[in-house]
Amino acid sequence: MALRDADLIRIFEAGETGGAAAKADALLAALCPELDGKARGEISLGDRDRLFWSFKTEWFSRGTQMLAKVKCQSCEEWNSLDLGADFVLPAKTSDEVKVTFAGEDWNLRLPAQADLSQVTPDGFPYYRLNPQAPWDDPEFRDAAEAAIEAADPAIDVVIDVQCPECGATTPCAFDALSFLWSDVEARALRVFSDIATLARAFGWSESETLGLTARRRARYVEMVS
Ligand SMILES: [Zn+2]
Repeated sequence: MALRDADLIRIFEAGETGGAAAKADALLAALCPELDGKARGEISLGDRDRLFWSFKTEWFSRGTQMLAKVKCQSCEEWNSLDLGADFVLPAKTSDEVKVTFAGEDWNLRLPAQADLSQVTPDGFPYYRLNPQAPWDDPEFRDAAEAAIEAADPAIDVVIDVQCPECGATTPCAFDALSFLWSDVEARALRVFSDIATLARAFGWSESETLGLTARRRARYVEMVS
C-alpha cells in the first residue's frame, strides 16, 4: 500500500491524543481497511508488530537509521539503537500456546491488540488469554509467559545496545509501534508545516497542497523559505 500524506495526517490525528492502544488501532485501520474494529482487536501482538515493522521499512526507512535513544546503564552516555534496513522480527512458530503446569494442560491464545485496552496499573490482562487458568499463581504465570514467547518470539524482542564509550551493553525493548509512530508523527508535522508555509505564500488550501506530489510540494516550499 502506498501511503498518501492525506492518509498519514488522518492516522496521526486519530491516534495523537490516545495511548498506545489507540495509536496502534489508528495505524491498523489504515493498513488493514478490510478489517472492522473487532477483527483489528483480534490481531495478535506479534503479527501486528511484524506488520508495523514491514510498513515502517516500506514507508520510511532510508537504510540504517536511529530508532531510539538508549541511556547506557554503566556510564549514562546516550547511545542510539540502530538496526539495518534488513532487520526482520522473528516468525511466529504457533498460533496455539499450551502450558503444562502441575500435571494439567492449559491452552491459551496469543496476546492480541484488544488486550491492550484492558491493561491496568497491575499490568497485562493475562486472564483474557484463558479466563479459567490459574493466573494468581506466579509460577503458572512465568510458565505461561515463557510458552507465549516460544509460540511467538516477536512479542518480546530485546536488543542489546553496546556503548561506544565504555563497552557496556544496555537492553532496549524493540517497540515496533513506537518506532513507526515516531516516523508518522515527524512526517505529519512536516506536512502541516508545508501546508501552512504554502498557505501563507500563495493562499493555497490544505487540499490543494495535499494534491501536489511530494516533489512538487518540496520545490514550492524551498522557493518561499
Ligand atoms: Zn557506556
